[in-house]
Amino acid sequence: MPIQWFPGHMNSARRNAAESMAAIDVVIEVTDARLPEASSNPMIAELRKFRNRPCLKLLNKSDLADPAATRAWMDFYNAQPDVKAVQISAKNPAEVARIPALCRSLAPHRDDGTKPLRMMIMGIPNVGKSTLMNALLKRKVAKVGDEPAVTKHQQTLDLGAGMTLTDTPGLMWPKIDYDADGYMLAASHAIGRNAVIDEEVAAFLGEVLLARYPNLLAARYKIKVEGMDGPALVEAIGRRRGCLVKGGGLDLEKAAQILLVDYRSGALGRISLETPETRAAMVERQAAE
Ligand code: GDP
Repeated sequence: MPIQWFPGHMNSARRNAAESMAAIDVVIEVTDARLPEASSNPMIAELRKFRNRPCLKLLNKSDLADPAATRAWMDFYNAQPDVKAVQISAKNPAEVARIPALCRSLAPHRDDGTKPLRMMIMGIPNVGKSTLMNALLKRKVAKVGDEPAVTKHQQTLDLGAGMTLTDTPGLMWPKIDYDADGYMLAASHAIGRNAVIDEEVAAFLGEVLLARYPNLLAARYKIKVEGMDGPALVEAIGRRRGCLVKGGGLDLEKAAQILLVDYRSGALGRISLETPETRAAMVERQAAE
């Protein structure tokens, strides 16, 4: 038995993940295509490198994301060593069916007809891991929900055709290095509600949408958006939709929820909250502060 050594700073979640990774061949990392960096956990890349494991990076929920932004992200990730990035909608069985062959191509040394190909799904809560797992297994084994963190126990399942699939090792929270990441995750429902106030999240989302998708906002709410900032947009939506509190004032929380629900459900159109360029600019801005 080789002695396993983990750096002292590795906490138990990391150690568990590192141990799980020792027994797999390919990591399937699921991210949200609308915010691929904000919805990734840097620990996954760290552990992959530690264990020298290739990664199939899935930009999931691509049915909701801006296709141009998704293309830019795929180029960005495909330039990285040992990474193959693909866009996917885990709800679409035909797209999910491509995944085993993609994993096989990343671990050709397992393709000798005797060794099983061992895959592990990793990702932060609510990016679609259970949906993907169900689709890969073609039966309902993992509980799918819209509340973060419904996957609690790690399980390894036989996919047939010499393949096994292990689900995410424990809970992997996003690492929030930038304020914007927290807001993007909250807007996309990757972190639980109440953690941040809806109005603040909607105002942040409003700023991004005003900068990147003003026409989608104008079309959905029939308002003139020129010169508006995030809070003004939320107010305008409230007025337009008649969100009033008792006594006649604006119900800004209700207005905020309208914007958030419209974004989350795709009712506004296909939207991405970050691109490789906006991400690089954000990182540069923060470094200069
Ligand atoms: P997990 O916490 O990572 O296991 O995420 P789930 O599989 O529970 O999915 C979270 C939510 O996202 C659920 O409401 C799913 O129906 C939804 N979802 C998952 N994949 C997709 C997708 O490709 N497109 C869309 N539109 N929704 C998805």
